[in-house]
Amino acid sequence: MKEQLQLLMRLQDTDTQIDQHKIVLDRVPKELQEMARNLVSLRHEIAETQDTLGITEKDLEKKEAELSTEQEKIKRSERRLLNIKNLKEHEALSREIRLGKKVAGEIEETILELMSRLEQLKKNLDRKQAEYDDCEKNLIDKKTQSEKMLADASEALESLKIEQKQLAEGIDQEHYKRYTMVRKFRGNAIAEMVNGSCDGCHIAITPQLGIRVLRQQEFVFCPNCHRILYVKPENIPLPNEPL
Ligand SMILES: [Zn+2]
Repeated sequence: MKEQLQLLMRLQDTDTQIDQHKIVLDRVPKELQEMARNLVSLRHEIAETQDTLGITEKDLEKKEAELSTEQEKIKRSERRLLNIKNLKEHEALSREIRLGKKVAGEIEETILELMSRLEQLKKNLDRKQAEYDDCEKNLIDKKTQSEKMLADASEALESLKIEQKQLAEGIDQEHYKRYTMVRKFRGNAIAEMVNGSCDGCHIAITPQLGIRVLRQQEFVFCPNCHRILYVKPENIPLPNEPL
């Protein structure tokens, strides 16, 4: 029975290591995928911002051209105004000039708005580009690290699986079944009895049950979590010590 318990303890240790390696093998590729997805969406955002920037720059050029046309028109009218003697014509042209100046003022305001929008877009673009560069660098670093990590985990998993098989072969079928079932529900099937308590669920073990655990002549299950209770050899009192 002692041997069976020891084999189960070793099996539990092996199974725990297997689980840890499996977690790495499952998690790392997902993390890499997530980082790559993030890069793609950043690239889309950058392209969109660049498009908007291009459109805004064209709008600005158009408005600047409109403004210079309007200003030329005003200058021409002002030169003509100097030579007009007729009062009515003079008034009409003056009105046209005032109107032209109003239009030019409005265009100038639009130009200022476009300029500040452009500035904002350029800032956004720089920020996104910096973020993209960071993410890209992180992804490359992570890929390099992961290659080794994944290779190590795969290698370790292979040898642990062989060990797992060998250990399982030495374990009584009934015990193995029980172990597998409790492990499925509790994570760990075997719990150490520490200071009179189950280390799995921390419930106090009655002295009577405790003695049976120490004797190791049978499997003793925790009445609360149903794990198999185990005591490390160094924690078993010597025969002349009271149990
Ligand atoms: Zn327990």
